[in-house]
Amino acid sequence: MRIISCKYIFIDGNFVKNKAVAFDKTIKKIAPLNELKEEFKNAEIIEYPSNTVLYPGFINPHVHLEFSANQAALNYGDFIKWLNSVIEYRQELVEKLDEELIKLKAKEMLQSGVTTFGAISSFSAELNVCKNLKQRVIYFNEIIGSNPAAVDALFGDFKNRLQESIEAKSDTLIPAIAIHSPYSVHPILIREVLKIAKEKNLITTAHFLESQAEREWLENGTGGFLEFFKNFSNTTKPINTIEGFLNAFNNCPTLFTHGVQATKEELETLNQNGHSLIHCPRSNRLLGCGRAQIEYIDNMLLGTDGLSSNYSLSILEEMRAALMMHHKADLKKLALRLINAVTENAAKALNLKIGKIETGYYADFAIFKLPNDLKEEENSNIALHTILNCNKTQNVYIGGEEVL
Ligand SMILES: [Zn+2]
Repeated sequence: MRIISCKYIFIDGNFVKNKAVAFDKTIKKIAPLNELKEEFKNAEIIEYPSNTVLYPGFINPHVHLEFSANQAALNYGDFIKWLNSVIEYRQELVEKLDEELIKLKAKEMLQSGVTTFGAISSFSAELNVCKNLKQRVIYFNEIIGSNPAAVDALFGDFKNRLQESIEAKSDTLIPAIAIHSPYSVHPILIREVLKIAKEKNLITTAHFLESQAEREWLENGTGGFLEFFKNFSNTTKPINTIEGFLNAFNNCPTLFTHGVQATKEELETLNQNGHSLIHCPRSNRLLGCGRAQIEYIDNMLLGTDGLSSNYSLSILEEMRAALMMHHKADLKKLALRLINAVTENAAKALNLKIGKIETGYYADFAIFKLPNDLKEEENSNIALHTILNCNKTQNVYIGGEEVL
């Protein structure tokens, strides 16, 4: 048994003082330090210096590690131009990818306090590394395929990858399913894959209304995607409607990603069906997609997306970007909302006993140090100054084990 004490502990949206946490693999008790010392006489005491905050480990539910080799190679600023550059340089980037690079990027996330991440995997390049990481990985096997002639082969490949990850399942590797997007996955594939998700009780995620071009294509069959699909798969009509795509997910709570071009009504449909939305502000900005209307989302999560559309995998930087992008939102309330997005909200969407400092939850912690004593100790002020002033975690625990 160990007991950890910091100046503040983030419990249920509040920064609580004069408490400590007793834990082994899971959290056993939260009480004043003296009380815990009395109750657990042989426990190791870990006391962090002043101005530290104990958070549940942060959760980044959307990253593409397979594109970790990208640095200044892809064309940013316009979604379709970016997509064309991904297709052009994909092979080159994939060839540069190796296990060391994947480990390095997972560590970059860890240093920003991320103890759990969702890896979107298109060809299972990162399974071996993810299996052996200390971090928890939601391993999203991705299905893509709009051309009916190729659907069977793609579905077969998907099922093999999924099976491989199911065989690797552990406390820290959770197999899951990603449906690429409404413009790229045939409705029959969506139906079949969601059937598997239901049968095997797997978490699902999907890109959704990321760009204006996507909306135009799905609604009218026009815009940048028309040219793209003519060249790419010799098709001239979208395979899904926005409504049809969303309806396929009824009764299957899903982590939708982006939703930048979703209307208020569509976002409310997500809320009503128990879905959540992963907001990726830096990716959205860099691909010229715009600003998601996060004010209409009930369960907002926050993701870095991959290095194919970002310059770092730090969740702290992502939070700072969100603070700046949503300039009309109340600053301090947004700061607190962002902390909730990377902890409790994400854990709820992933249905895991993480993201909260509460008895019975996994002892996954991220410790941050504020530069000075805060003059105002209101909750939202502590959240704000964590986001503004912390670039790196002091330490990280996963399942009660010190990881950094
Ligand atoms: Zn993505």
